[in-house]
Amino acid sequence: MTTAAPVNLPPPQCPPQLLGHCARCQAPCHRYGVGGNPLCKTHKAEAEALQKPRPAAL
Ligand SMILES: [Zn+2]
Repeated sequence: MTTAAPVNLPPPQCPPQLLGHCARCQAPCHRYGVGGNPLCKTHKAEAEALQKPRPAAL
């Protein structure tokens, strides 16, 4: 649990021209093109969680 894993690395298959910086933490992320998102994986998941008004499957 002491290992600081790099969670914001861009996907290896993401072309360099589609890479950008997270709007929140400036980490490299797949920002442009198909499947792109202005947020890194961490913040994208955070935003998606906030978008859900309530848990659908519970
Ligand atoms: Zn981020």
